[in-house]
Amino acid sequence: MKVIHWFREDLRLLDNPALSHAAEHADAEVVPVFIYPEGLGGASYWWLHKSLENLSKALKSKGVDLVFATGSPHTVLPKLAEQIGANLITWNRVYSPEGIEQGKQVKQALGNASVEHRSFNGQLLIEPTKVLNKQGLPFKVFTPFWRNCVSFLTARELAPEPRFKPSTHSLASEHLQDWGLQPTAPNWAKGFEPLWQPGEAGAQSRWREFLSGTIDTYKDGRDIPSESNTSLLSPHLVFGEISSQQLWNDVQEAIVGQQISHENGHKFLSEIGWREFSRYLLVHFPHLITEPFNARFTNFPWGDDAQLIKAWQQGQTGYPIVDAGMRELWQTGYMHNRVRMIVASFLTKHCLSHWHHGMAWFWDTLLDADIANNTASWQWVAGCGADASPYFRIFNPILQGEKFDKQGVYVKRWVPELADVPAKFIHKPWEADQPTLHAAKVALGTDYPLPIVDHKHARETALLAYQAIKT
Ligand SMILES: Cc1cc2nc3c(=O)[nH]c(=O)nc-3n(C[C@H](O)[C@H](O)[C@H](O)COP(=O)(O)OP(=O)(O)OC[C@H]3O[C@@H](n4cnc5c(N)ncnc54)[C@H](O)[C@@H]3O)c2cc1C
Repeated sequence: MKVIHWFREDLRLLDNPALSHAAEHADAEVVPVFIYPEGLGGASYWWLHKSLENLSKALKSKGVDLVFATGSPHTVLPKLAEQIGANLITWNRVYSPEGIEQGKQVKQALGNASVEHRSFNGQLLIEPTKVLNKQGLPFKVFTPFWRNCVSFLTARELAPEPRFKPSTHSLASEHLQDWGLQPTAPNWAKGFEPLWQPGEAGAQSRWREFLSGTIDTYKDGRDIPSESNTSLLSPHLVFGEISSQQLWNDVQEAIVGQQISHENGHKFLSEIGWREFSRYLLVHFPHLITEPFNARFTNFPWGDDAQLIKAWQQGQTGYPIVDAGMRELWQTGYMHNRVRMIVASFLTKHCLSHWHHGMAWFWDTLLDADIANNTASWQWVAGCGADASPYFRIFNPILQGEKFDKQGVYVKRWVPELADVPAKFIHKPWEADQPTLHAAKVALGTDYPLPIVDHKHARETALLAYQAIKT
């Protein structure tokens, strides 16, 4: 008997409930299949290629061949099942609207073909439909949502790495190399290579390093972009290379064992809670991807000034903390969370650009591009999302820089033309006098741009736009 495991956003062997179920099935030979996902961004495809290479090697070392296929899952999977005579297909659920729809279509097609299916929660601590408020409605605010989740979350035993029977099937697989997921000319991803190790082994080693080190300074350290105080697990989590249940278990154990403080451990887990919340929101409010969560913003006069958007994308706005973030993103495929908030506020409020533009750029350039986190976070910063910061809270990019990058270490790393500007002016170089700029070897407007918008004026314009929809 053969069982197909359909790998989706669960590219791991440890604590993979659907895969374990497939392997435990009496006398089963597991045939793992991965189907080309349409519509990812460029950076995500780079990660996916490496992650699949590693998954394929890990399976091979256990005697199992990963099958690569292209097409709609509801067509591909029944066909493969028929070819090898599989009578069961397993998968871990994906919670985006597209992922849910795909699951439904596959179920229907398998039903028609009389092939059994079983789906599992391998992605979240809590199934989104299980958490409702006292009125039986979905939560719209994070704190009560998470408080509710924490009240019944427990450590669950992780599903062990499955043991497989060696592959005997003769399915023809496509070749990963032929999918062309890696950039060639130009290779814009060469900066990613030394920084990231996609795949399950990379995820586990990143996690062990964080858990035995910086997690214990997480609460205060997580807001300083020049330091590596956060886990950097986001792309690993997006591709399911490590389970959130493992993070939960390990943190609880480290707190009980007094290796880390309760405060730091729970602060970290609450960020995992934000990840749960954004998926939860998408399950209950799927229109979030295109429409503002707060309907009042439907007629907000968002603009789409192409020049402003381009300057923002290229890190040429003249606001050093914004430019540093956008350049970090381009060169590394990642941006620190504090800086994501600053650049998103700048685009949606200082430039009055629609959050769709920012979301699309992040989708293409982030290695951790994630439909739920990206959508919910952009709407949150733009002021129109669930539990959003009020619209009138407009981040001042100068004060944010001075608060979270006091000496300009982060800015100088990513905006080298400002390397010699004194800390006093690093977040507002236009206020420095000519001798200071001359000594710093920077000519504003030539080596580094003057601000593309005036902070005070932009702030007032944004507030006026907000006033208009409020009334
Ligand atoms: C405008 C904007 C867009 C964003 N887009 C994405 C995205 O596409 N993909 C993505 O994974 N995160 C996104 N985030 C959230 C956050 O910035 C990243 O998850 C975080 O910076 C990743 O770094 P880390 O793994 O070191 O995080 P850590 O601080 O170590 O946190 C651990 C994990 O918790 C989750 N997490 C942390 N912060 C958040 C948050 N605010 N919302 C939801 N989950 C969170 C992530 O899975 C993260 O890996 C976005 C934030 C903003 C403001």
